[in-house]
Amino acid sequence: MDYRIVCTEQEPAQNPPKHAHIVAVGTGTDPDKADQRLTLTQVIQKMDNGDRFYTKGLRTGKIAWVEKYWCSYCRQHHIRSSPDATTDNNLDSLRYCSWKS
Ligand SMILES: [Zn+2]
Repeated sequence: MDYRIVCTEQEPAQNPPKHAHIVAVGTGTDPDKADQRLTLTQVIQKMDNGDRFYTKGLRTGKIAWVEKYWCSYCRQHHIRSSPDATTDNNLDSLRYCSWKS
């Protein structure tokens, strides 16, 4: 199935200073309220099972697919927006997740 990512949690790696990665995401249909929290590992697993992840621009309504890539520095997979994403629908432009119990 396809999941819309509406927010992200990022974690800076120790070194180099600007090396930050998404460690978890929130998915759902409402951009202001995520239904489900998925860790990076869960997202990668779902991708490997054929599920797809995307982001949607709040202004343009355009969809950008999310892809995994291998980070040789961290020696693990991470996720990012595909190269055709714009600033409106890029993963990096999403809000930070705020989870309420
Ligand atoms: Zn990395």
